[in-house]
Amino acid sequence: MYGMRSRVITLLVLFSLSLLFTACSMSNQQENSEENQSAEQNNNSSEESQQKEETKEENTQESKEKEASYAYAENLDEEVDEDGLTIVSEPDIKEVVVNKQRKLPEDYEPEELIIPDVPFPFDGDQPKKYMQPEAANALEELFKGAEVEGLELYAASGYRSYDRQEAIYESNVNQRGQEEADKFSARPGTSEHQTGLAMDVTSPEMAFKLEQDFIETEEGKWLEEHAHEYGFIIRYLKGTRNITGYEYEPWHLRYVGKDISTEIHESGSTLEEFFGFYEE
Ligand SMILES: [Zn+2]
Repeated sequence: MYGMRSRVITLLVLFSLSLLFTACSMSNQQENSEENQSAEQNNNSSEESQQKEETKEENTQESKEKEASYAYAENLDEEVDEDGLTIVSEPDIKEVVVNKQRKLPEDYEPEELIIPDVPFPFDGDQPKKYMQPEAANALEELFKGAEVEGLELYAASGYRSYDRQEAIYESNVNQRGQEEADKFSARPGTSEHQTGLAMDVTSPEMAFKLEQDFIETEEGKWLEEHAHEYGFIIRYLKGTRNITGYEYEPWHLRYVGKDISTEIHESGSTLEEFFGFYEE
C-alpha cells in the first residue's frame, strides 16, 4: 500500500519537476531571444515546447554570446580586399558597422528604400531623401517628437549609392588631394549613408548646413538627448575620431533600433566599441 503510494508520489514529483524544467529552459531561451516582447504570449502548446527543446542547445549557445555583449565582431569571418579593407558580410542587418576599415560590397543596395514623410530643404525625388523603411518610419516618429517640442528639424541627406559616393570622393581627391580627402570624405563603399540607415539632419537656424555648431541650437541639443528614444544614435561623437574615423557630427543620425540605441546612449560608447570592432 505505502509502496504503491510513494511510487505514485515519486512519479508525480518527477513529472512536475520535468514540467518545471521545461518551463524554465523555455523562459530562459525567450529572455535571451531578440523577440522577447512577444514571448509571454506563445509558450502554451506542448508541441511548440518540444520543437523549442530540440533547438534549445543551439539557441542557448547563441544567446549566451548575446547576453555577454553585443560584440558580434568576434564571430565574424570576413574577407579583406586588395586595399586591406574588410568587406562587410552582413550588410542587411540593422546592426551593421560600416566605417573606413569596413566597406560594403560594391554592388550592395538595401532591399527596399522609401522617402520618409518629413521636411527636406530641397524639392524633387532625389536618392538622398531615401532610407530603409524601418529607419524611415522611426525618423518620422522622431520628427513628430521634435515638432511637439516646437523644434524645426529638416532631413538633409540619407541614402547615397556606391556610385554617388565614388563621384563625391573622386571630386574631393581632385580638389584637395587624397590625404586631405580621406580626412572628411568616405571612400566608395565605406559611407554609412550607403546602408540607408543614416540621415543627416539640420534646421533653418543652421541655414540647413551641416556644421558642429548645430549642437548649440535647441534642435541639436534635443537630438543629443532624445534621438535614442526613437532608435537612433548620434553616430560620430565628440572626441572619438580615433575610433569612428570621423570628427564630431552632431547631425548624423544612424538607425539601430530602440533597444540598441538606448544601450549605446546610456553607455556613451560608439557603435564600433559596442559591437566589438574597436580594441584599445
Ligand atoms: Zn552623414
